[in-house]
Amino acid sequence: MKIDLHAHSTASDGTESPAELVAAATAAGLTTLAITDHDTTAGWGEAVEAAIREGIELVRGIEISCSRNYRSIHLLGYLPDPDDPRLAIELARARDSRVNRMDRMIRRMADDGIPVTVEEVRAQLAPGATLGRPHLADALVANGVVPTRDEAFRDLLHDGSKYYVGHYAPDPVAAIKLVRSAGGVPVLAHPFAMRTATISDDMVEELADAGLAGLEAHHRDHEPADVERAVHLAERHDLVVTGSSDYHGTGKLNRLGEFTTDPREWSRIVEQSHGVKVIKP
Ligand code: AMP
Ligand code: ZN
Ligand code: FE
Ligand code: FE
Repeated sequence: MKIDLHAHSTASDGTESPAELVAAATAAGLTTLAITDHDTTAGWGEAVEAAIREGIELVRGIEISCSRNYRSIHLLGYLPDPDDPRLAIELARARDSRVNRMDRMIRRMADDGIPVTVEEVRAQLAPGATLGRPHLADALVANGVVPTRDEAFRDLLHDGSKYYVGHYAPDPVAAIKLVRSAGGVPVLAHPFAMRTATISDDMVEELADAGLAGLEAHHRDHEPADVERAVHLAERHDLVVTGSSDYHGTGKLNRLGEFTTDPREWSRIVEQSHGVKVIKP
């Protein structure tokens, strides 16, 4: 089995449609793929149709943008009921606040003479998709301000940039409880990546007590010491260990299947879920 539990489509900031993502996963030899777009389940329907066509196991998931002390923390939620009202309202609130946040970032750039408009950013976005900095990056590339999405982040859009504006995001404890109450299984995404370097051992314990199910240990943004730390903490708190690519199509260097999840760990996730079913080939 080759199980990759973290990938993005055009429903957020991936560059492939949900159907294209599923086809790419099949071509990459995966047996199981999770579609985990930022703050939305909009890609699920198309992905399910494609998975049935391609004969691949599909996991319906999300990646919820959370925040604590102005630091961004990403929480993967596997197999939650998308119609759970509390979860749906919270995701909608986060998506709405991203619209106003984008306006403010664009205004800050305009004040500095950087040419980009809301319409140009919108042109980079699939209908119904979650708006994010990657779309602003793509608009800057299209306008010739920067050559690539990566350089847009490095020079203009990183968290410490003067153009950066945050958006509404729930605390991770609240998000863990929402995912659980919707029957989903919450796993911390890339917990020790540089961007989320504030996650302490104590915080992992706090999140485990709140209902966290697992840690994404094997991920491109983790150094060997980070992987070791995650595996160790998972043992201590009886958490599932996952590995995934965090694929974004051509939007990032990450390749499908570059990190994978052990089948025994995957089955521990399925056992804990009671939201939606895994789509079987
Ligand atoms: P946002 O949620 O709108 O603040 O945007 C953050 C998202 O941008 C992250 O979840 C990543 O998917 C993406 N991102 C962050 N850094 C980079 C980068 N250097 N290149 C491409 N995408 C990035
Ligand atoms: Zn992303
Ligand atoms: Fe993430
Ligand atoms: Fe991601």
